[in-house]
This record gives sequence, structure tokens and C-alpha cells, in this order.
Amino acid sequence: MTDAPSPKFLADENVGKLGRWLRIIGYDVAYQSPALDAQLALKALRENRIILTRDREFVERRMVERHLLLTSQDPIEQLKQVIQVFGLKLDRNSFFTRCLDCNTPIESVPKAEVQSVVPAYVYRTQDQFHRCPSCDKLFWAGSHTTNFQDWLKRVGET
Ligand SMILES: [Zn+2]
Repeated sequence: MTDAPSPKFLADENVGKLGRWLRIIGYDVAYQSPALDAQLALKALRENRIILTRDREFVERRMVERHLLLTSQDPIEQLKQVIQVFGLKLDRNSFFTRCLDCNTPIESVPKAEVQSVVPAYVYRTQDQFHRCPSCDKLFWAGSHTTNFQDWLKRVGET
């Protein structure tokens, strides 16, 4: 496959969870909704994205060249497959750099700016806050890292 350092993906709606995990480790993942096959194919071509899908029929119709048919139903196994096929790097500096909801790269926010909007205990216990410039969602370590270390082990990071 490609040697591009950061392949971009388009997750079919049948692999939504996989898409979210890929965003967590920093990869650019878009969704198409509703995911009509032709629209999916067009978006992938326009934006130079690799389609991730569980839909064997879609793949067999050969609407797009760049795709990966996920063989497992388990998102962890799917992620392992993607990492292996595309040689993805698990780079800690890239983790949690992208909005999980809309895929936009997030920006760090000075702690003082979030005091009035985050729960008091969060403000007391967290020092790093990030905001999505597109949907305005706030992120901090505790908001989505629960079980992340455990998850990394299952994916096979060493
Ligand atoms: Zn966002």
C-alpha cells in the first residue's frame, strides 16, 4: 500500500467505532452520512481518502480503488488490521489531537479560560485543556482517556 505518512480515511457507517479510535490516535477520519455507496465513493476520491468498510458487496463492485474490507466485527481487531495493512504509527504525540466528534484538529486552551465552563473537580484535577475550533467542544485528559492505556495494550502497542 501507500507510504504516505498519514493516510486519510473515510469510515463507512458500519465501522463507526473504528473511525473514532483512529481519530483518538490522531488520524484523519471522515464519515459520510447517509452513506449511499456512490456518495461514499465520490467523497473518497475527492478527498483522497481510503474507505474502511465491512460491506463486501461495496468492495466487490469496485467503485473505488483505495479501500480496506475489515474482516472482524470487533473494533479492536479492525484497528489492528488497519494499523498492519497501512503501517500506521502509534505516536503518543498525535494522540488526542483531533476532535472525536467532527475530526477537526483541536487547539490547546489556557486553563483560566475554562474555569467557568468545566466542572469544579475537573478544573482542580486537570491542567491541560483543548478546544475544537469547529464545534467548540472542550476536551481534557479525563474526558476520553478512560481505559485508554488498557486499550493500547490490546491493540498491541509496546
Ligand atoms: Zn469538533
